[in-house]
Formats: sequence, C-alpha cells, structure tokens
Amino acid sequence: MSSDPLDLLDLDALHSAEERQIRDVVRQVVDERVRPYVAGWYEDGRAPVRELTKVFGAIGLLGMHLTGYGCAGSSAVAYGLACLELEAGDSGVRSLVSVQGSLAMYAIWRYGSEEQKQEWLPRMATGDAVGCFGLTEPDHGSDPGSMSTRARRDGEDWVLGGGKMWITNAPVADVAVVWAGTPEGVRGFVVPTTAAGFSAREISHKMSLRASATGEIVLDEVRLPDAARLPEARGLRAPLSCLTQARYGIVWGALGAARECLSTALRYAGSREQFGRPLAGFQLTQAKLADMAVELQKGYLLAVHLGRRADAGELRPEQVSVGKLNNVREAIAIARQCRTILGANGISGEYPIMRHANNLESVLTYEGTSEIHQLVIGQALTGLSAFD
Ligand SMILES: Cc1cc2nc3c(=O)[nH]c(=O)nc-3n(C[C@H](O)[C@H](O)[C@H](O)COP(=O)(O)OP(=O)(O)OC[C@H]3O[C@@H](n4cnc5c(N)ncnc54)[C@H](O)[C@@H]3O)c2cc1C
Repeated sequence: MSSDPLDLLDLDALHSAEERQIRDVVRQVVDERVRPYVAGWYEDGRAPVRELTKVFGAIGLLGMHLTGYGCAGSSAVAYGLACLELEAGDSGVRSLVSVQGSLAMYAIWRYGSEEQKQEWLPRMATGDAVGCFGLTEPDHGSDPGSMSTRARRDGEDWVLGGGKMWITNAPVADVAVVWAGTPEGVRGFVVPTTAAGFSAREISHKMSLRASATGEIVLDEVRLPDAARLPEARGLRAPLSCLTQARYGIVWGALGAARECLSTALRYAGSREQFGRPLAGFQLTQAKLADMAVELQKGYLLAVHLGRRADAGELRPEQVSVGKLNNVREAIAIARQCRTILGANGISGEYPIMRHANNLESVLTYEGTSEIHQLVIGQALTGLSAFD
C-alpha cells in the first residue's frame, strides 16, 4: 500500500523500483534546493536559473530521456515523474528543465549534425550550457507557420532577421534553437547567443511563472555558417515534434502543481477550526477534497498510460493533446478549489497555492493553448482540420 494519503488507488504500484528511485531523488532535490526558496524567487520575479541548471545537470535530469552525449537514457515514465516532482516545487522550475531537455536539447539531438550534437549536448546535459527554443513571435503564437522571422542565404552563410517573444531561458541562455522561414520552408538554426546581432531582453511584469526567466529575442542580421542549420529539420513538423516532447512533460508536471495544492489544502483543513471543528470535518469540504483527489488520480492514470505508450514508441501527438488538455485544465481547477479551502490565507504567498494557480495560467497557454489542443483532438475525431 502507498504511504501517500493522496494515492487512494495505490498508483505507486504501477511503477518499477527504478522509476520510484528516480522520483525520490528528484523529490529530495526539490525539497532541498527549491521548496525553501521558491516563494522568495517568485516574489522577486527572479530565479537563479544558471545555478539550478547545474544542480539538475548534476543529477542527470537534463535531457534525461535522450540517449548518448552524456544523457541518461531514462524511460519516458521516469522523465514524467521527474517533471511531476519539479513542478510540485514550481512550474517555472519544471519549465527550465523542459525547455532545456525537451525543446533545445531534443531539437539538436533529433535534427542536428554530429558536430552540433558533440558541441552542445554534453555541456547542456551537465548544465554548463543553458539552451532556449525560439518559435513564438510577437505577432505569431498559436499559428507559428505564419512566422515572420526570416533566414536568407548570403553566399555560403545564412542571415537571420526578426524576433521571438516569450522565450523561456532566453535571458540567460548560451544557445538558442531558432526557427525561421526560408524559401524552402521553415528551418531551424543553432545560434550561440554571443553571435553578433543576437540580443535577448528579459520580459518583466509577469504575474505568472515569476520564478522563470522569460525573454524577447531580437535577431538583427545574425550571420551564421550553414553548419549552424539543423540539417534534418525540414518544415514546421520539426519544431512541432519538439513541442510534442515538451507537452508530454507538462502532462505529468501539472499533476505536481495540483498535488502540492491538494496536500496543502488537506493539511490546512485538518488543522483550521471554524464553528468548533476542523474544516476537514465539514461535508462540503470533504466533497471538494474527494472530487479533487479523484481528478488527480485520474490524471495520473492518464499520464502513466501515455508514458507507457511513449516507452513503447507508440505515442501519437493527439494523445499528448488529450493529456495536456485534461491535466492542465484539472490542475487549474484543483488549484482554484484549494484556494477556497484556505480562505484568506489562500491568497498569501506564505502558502504555495496562489503561486501554483498563477503559474498554471502560463502552463495552460504555452506548448499549445487548450483551444489548440481541442482543435487537434477535434481533427483526430472528425478528420477535418479547423485551423489549417
Ligand atoms: C511564460 C511563458 C513561457 C513561454 N515560453 C516559450 C518558449 O520557450 N518558446 C516559445 O517558442 N514560446 C514560448 N511561449 C509562448 C507560447 O507558446 C504562446 O504564448 C502560445 O503558443 C500562444 O500564443 P499567443 O500567446 O500568441 O496567443 P494567440 O495565438 O494570440 O492566442 C490567443 C487566444 O486565441 C486562441 N486561438 C488562437 N487561434 C485559435 C483558433 N484557431 N481557434 C480558436 N482559438 C484560437 C488561443 O487559444 C488563445 O486563447 C511561452 C509563453 C509563456 C506565457
């Protein structure tokens, strides 16, 4: 039987000893290196991204589901469990790891040349180099195919012009995977952030994901050799396949934020008394707690199922959309409901709930909004694309 009171269905039994061990290591690192400080980072709107990247690199978390080049080669389920534990700490911290491993490293690992892999992946796996992934633009978000960033040939070189917006890790990154339009279609480029004409500016005044570095990238005639182009990436399918990787991590990660909210609310309801008894003793509170626990466990079953499909090499993008749509939507609902259980204390930064609720608004939007995932699922159901 599981020792976790929130694991009503003993879902822990679905995991191998190795999966549990990886999960426990990540949980411990989050307990030691994230949980005591994250409320302060959030309030300051600044997280020690480079330092955290080194910490996570030291335990093999960065690109852990990739093989070779210093990557751990873990299962998709183990990677998912790591995302869950990281996001129980903070969605911004999980975003750092997702962008590094599932977007920047995956793009180079899947579409890069041998030289690009050798140059970047080992350093990114240890956390010595930080990566970001630039697809979204100020005027092109859900519809990246209409991007205006351009790459044109100039002799043997490429020259990149344009800009990217809302790019996680950009203000601190050493390397940016940048997607740009060419006459032959969308192409990806591995851009060292020291390249002349490349600049990144931190986006401030965020009310969500404040313990994460988010930036705007300006590409002002950035000249790159052809060796900087990802040779295997042709068309929009390439960046979209990277997004599928990152979305998979979110399927698990959102459950971590929800679990943290629910366990906080459960503890609070057990100790806070009104009308002469603990809040947890009221039927209405128990109905809330029961409904949230049911959704959390259902979401977990979904995540494990998708993880096992991924490990079998059978996971389809629309299946990831089902997981992202459901688990983020339910996680937000859980965070909001938990907030009510804490009453006024629910809005206080002394408790993690409001921070998670605010973070989940970003998680709902990035890696495909809920509406886009509904459209992906709608297309799978009907055979008709409502957004092409
Ligand atoms: C904190 C944060 C970090 C991010 N990190 C990254 C990153 O690292 N790299 C990166 O490339 N991007 C990143 N993003 C950007 C993110 O992926 C985009 O915000 C997202 O794709 C949505 O684009 P948009 O904000 O332009 O919204 P829009 O595309 O303008 O959409 C606005 C609204 O319209 C809806 N909508 C759009 N099209 C349709 C349609 N056809 N039918 C119905 N409704 C529709 C959307 O669902 C949404 O509700 C990040 C965003 C945030 C908030």
